[in-house]
Amino acid sequence: MVEDDHEYGNPVPGAVFRRGSGKMGRVMRLPLLARRLARFARSGSSASREYRECRRSIESAEALEATGTVCLSVDFELAWSRARRGEGSTSREESLERARRAREALPALLALCEAYRIPATFAVVAHVALDRCDLHRPPPPFRPGWFGEDWFAACAQEELAPGGDIRAPDLVRQILTSPVGHELASHGFSHVDLSDEATTPEVARFEIEESARILRGLDPRVSTFIFPKNRPAHLEALARAGFVAYRTREQAPLSRDPHGLWRFPLGLWLSPEAVSPAEVVSLVELAGRRRGLLGLWCHLYEFEDPSRLRAFFEPVFEAVRSTSGVKADTMRTVVERHVERA
Ligand SMILES: [Zn+2]
Ligand SMILES: [Zn+2]
Repeated sequence: MVEDDHEYGNPVPGAVFRRGSGKMGRVMRLPLLARRLARFARSGSSASREYRECRRSIESAEALEATGTVCLSVDFELAWSRARRGEGSTSREESLERARRAREALPALLALCEAYRIPATFAVVAHVALDRCDLHRPPPPFRPGWFGEDWFAACAQEELAPGGDIRAPDLVRQILTSPVGHELASHGFSHVDLSDEATTPEVARFEIEESARILRGLDPRVSTFIFPKNRPAHLEALARAGFVAYRTREQAPLSRDPHGLWRFPLGLWLSPEAVSPAEVVSLVELAGRRRGLLGLWCHLYEFEDPSRLRAFFEPVFEAVRSTSGVKADTMRTVVERHVERA
């Protein structure tokens, strides 16, 4: 089995990309049922550890607000979805396959959000928002040993851009112009893992500051940062760049860190491989009863095609709309309300 680099840092056995079978490679996954059986044999529960932790944190937290809140954040990186895997990295074929899926899935998710009036937080890799590569500052040299070439070599490979793989400003515009009022957040300039030992402070600062410059050109309110791989690092630089909040990798209540930044609870990773829509619905209902905060987060490439994405999200969004005492909000809105009350 190949170690997966999904951003919770928790390997997903079964998420195996078979190489050498066509240009894109074929994706093979272990079905949820088999995963549940294995979990049940191991732990006595068929629900994932993340699901159980998330449930516990809502049950044990004090009521945060007058109503329950569901907060969906979506990590959007297209072909910058690449990461370390031991001594190597995500292959280019995988990154392109993920980009293809995310590109197809985004309009489907935006349409659903509009149908159910659900605002979400879109954590966008800033390079994706650009029309041309000469609109970003020259990046510092960055050649992690495990990557094999310069991280930014893609900027010189024009063939990656026309299909929207490293730049897709049209997709980012769709997020910004949706009448639902989505939040634009930063997912770095080019999805560098800021916690990796190869990442120098200079590279980290560039990732944070250049992403802020580009994204605030589209929406001056950009104040939330989602760390690639959910690995917070260089928090001082984040605070200096004017960010206000970031998603942590813990199921802990919303709180402030020593830099004055708001730490947002991780919440539940939405993937058809990890949870069922019925489980997510039960957490939405719990958030309503407990007036709790339920964070949900995902990558669009987890969904094989738009119809599977719709099948997953529709019952969840329906529950958000119909459960009494629950509303959907963006991370920024939740933090702002919390600051007002603090
Ligand atoms: Zn570029
Ligand atoms: Zn990411």
